[in-house]
Amino acid sequence: MNRDHKTVWAACLEIIRDNIDEKLYNTWFAPIVPVKLENNALTIQVPSPFYYEWLERNCIHLLKKTINAVLGTSGKLRYKILMDTNPTGKPQTTTIPSVGAQATQNKPVDVAVNVNDGDVQNMPNPLIFPGIKKIKIPSQLNENYTLENFVEGDCNRLARAAGYAVAKDPGKTAFNPLLLHGGVGLGKTHLAHAIGIKTKEYHSDKTVVYLSSEQFMQQYATAGKDHNTNDFIRFYGMTDVLIIDDIQFWANKAPRTQEAFFHIFNDLHQRNKQIIITSDKAPSELSGLEPRLISRLKWGLAADLQTPDVETRMAILRQKLENDGIDMPNDVIEYIAYSINTNVRELEGALISLIAQSSLNKKQITIDLAKQMIDKFVKSTSREITIEYIQKIVCDYFNLPIESIQSRTRKREIVQARQLTMYFAKKLTKASLAIIGLQCGNKDHATVLHACKTVANLNETDKQFHHWVSELEKRFQE
Ligand code: ADP
Ligand code: MG
Repeated sequence: MNRDHKTVWAACLEIIRDNIDEKLYNTWFAPIVPVKLENNALTIQVPSPFYYEWLERNCIHLLKKTINAVLGTSGKLRYKILMDTNPTGKPQTTTIPSVGAQATQNKPVDVAVNVNDGDVQNMPNPLIFPGIKKIKIPSQLNENYTLENFVEGDCNRLARAAGYAVAKDPGKTAFNPLLLHGGVGLGKTHLAHAIGIKTKEYHSDKTVVYLSSEQFMQQYATAGKDHNTNDFIRFYGMTDVLIIDDIQFWANKAPRTQEAFFHIFNDLHQRNKQIIITSDKAPSELSGLEPRLISRLKWGLAADLQTPDVETRMAILRQKLENDGIDMPNDVIEYIAYSINTNVRELEGALISLIAQSSLNKKQITIDLAKQMIDKFVKSTSREITIEYIQKIVCDYFNLPIESIQSRTRKREIVQARQLTMYFAKKLTKASLAIIGLQCGNKDHATVLHACKTVANLNETDKQFHHWVSELEKRFQE
């Protein structure tokens, strides 16, 4: 029987098809082109080294079995691989034998053949897939989101340090995947970009790609429509660092996107490529995603971003002002930092509105302007007064440093200020006695209860104390 490479490969495909999931078949085998059959060795052309690696790693037994069945035990398999563009801009191919599916040791034969299949060097749109040649993939990194600009605090120390480690040695630390999680406006997106940028600083040759999970989903859908899902999967397989933002977006939808990502994830992970993911929830709370995907997310490190404390909030404000070259009185900065404790995005929002207010109305930025503005800001979002804000007002009133509330001192004036803080915290916030105690010098709830009773008592019986309480009340109402 006169067999040529095409019929041999067709026979192989029949066997392969019966032994492998259809999607995998379509992704990894359908794009393969048989090239020649010589001395009972079949040469197949694969679109990239990545393909070759994947096949040799994942399908070696199947390939071996198949070649044996079709060509007999002396049968061999060789790959012709379309290579990356070389420095002269000319793409190359190389032929190498299969590691496992060859019967004897064949020396790799390098045949450099130029393949002319159009110019894809200047890819105008990041959403167009580059086909089979490696080109400069647009990273979509936002250069304003640097690690240097990402103010460190207790709230983000672990995540920031892990990010730094990953940028230095992408794919080589235990933090793979690195999952950054936390509520809105706490810096997930910023940190994710920052890690990408730092990676490029250390390793300019590495391909770093950032995209939102929504973009990923849309690209996958578009690729599906254009019958390009293979290119899609290959494209992301070429990255060294893949950053996907807001993965919770896929919850309860996009099962096919999740599946595609699952395969890309496995492939990247196996080849020690770095994966960075952000989510608004911890992996254990991420319901609606495929369980096997969630289990992958738990492989590396899940680092959370928490609400910054007041010092960090102050540092963030100072840094933003410095970056923008704007001067602002210290008391105003403090006022904003103490009043807005939800997240960094709102903190920035308040700062920007204040700057806008002052420049539009040509008014100096003063504490009064800040109070007016923040008041509106706080009312419009029906925010509560915070314990930190109460500490600040009380300490300012008595001219005490704010740290004194936290101190262990039994000095009378400080004990009084602490008790007043606890009293107002109970009255003006929804915080529990335990939380109030924790934030006012690590006291227990009984101490807070006692303080509240004492203040209420003295307010009735002690003239001086009554004066303080009513003056402070006025300030809280301002
Ligand atoms: P998320 O993605 O968690 O919703 P973002 O990364 O978009 O939050 O952060 C919201 C805003 O707050 C951004 O402008 C970001 O630059 C800023 N931001 C958050 N955390 C920090 C930080 N630690 N230092 C400086 N800016 C921060
Ligand atoms: Mg974000």
